[in-house]
Amino acid sequence: QAKQVYTGRFAPSPTGPLHMGSLVAAMASYLDARAHDGQWLLRMEDLDFDRNVKGADQHIIASLQRSGMQWDGEVTWQSHRQPLYETALQELGNALYPCSCSRKEIADSRLRLGETASQIYPGTCRNGLVAGKTARAWRLCVPDQVYAFEDRLAGMQTQNLAIEVGDFVLKRADGFWAYQLAVVVDDAAQGITHVVRGADLIDSTARQIYLQELLGLPTPAYLHVPVVTNAEGEKLSKQTGALAFDRGDNDVLHEALLPAAQFLGLKMASTVEDIPAFWRAAIQAWKEKIVLK
Ligand code: GLU
Repeated sequence: QAKQVYTGRFAPSPTGPLHMGSLVAAMASYLDARAHDGQWLLRMEDLDFDRNVKGADQHIIASLQRSGMQWDGEVTWQSHRQPLYETALQELGNALYPCSCSRKEIADSRLRLGETASQIYPGTCRNGLVAGKTARAWRLCVPDQVYAFEDRLAGMQTQNLAIEVGDFVLKRADGFWAYQLAVVVDDAAQGITHVVRGADLIDSTARQIYLQELLGLPTPAYLHVPVVTNAEGEKLSKQTGALAFDRGDNDVLHEALLPAAQFLGLKMASTVEDIPAFWRAAIQAWKEKIVLK
């Protein structure tokens, strides 16, 4: 069997322009791919039609280009790939069940069980819909089992899906495909061997490994980088008012690329000549810190 080529990806949701937080995720995945002489793909995760912002995908593409992060092959949009998610859902068959519960009903039933309100699903519809209710979403049964994986940076991670996550949604009440299903289908369909992304997604990884197991798909290597927070300790996002790192006329090299590399803990000279010189130095620093460590 031929050795698989390293294939990584950056998978932004086009809900706004890239900010310092998403730049760090893009940079880490790009550096890891280039440090391995691998491929780096760009995939727009635009399945949440309520949160997509018109033109954000093109803004993201332009910012990556202006930063000197060139992807391999064509950009893909998840919204164009929906038949793949439908096929995967069909394959999961009996592991799925229709669910009529609203978020409020789930939180209320946890409270009734004497617990704090949480979105860990108590399994209400597992054995059939409550009489008179109609299906809103499709959920996946999870086993009372610990899933473990070795994160390349954070080390061994474990999660009991039944206790810490509960049966999770693959197709939402609004008819949109859930991130967990789409990301697993696409990572496999695109031959992704290495996932590098923000640590806010480390808790999703066990769910993704479970889905890969059910669908007979390979599990890539995972590396989660720390997320950038604001002065209040909140993850940077459009909701917390993060600014675009590329404002069209600013000095992206000094105002964004160098600070992002610094956030990733890369040893770099404080002055670099230009963007190509920045990437040469950053790839070398990433090799020393992560790949060859
Ligand atoms: N689309 C997700 C986000 O923007 C990232 C998905 C991933 O890297 O697995 O947060």
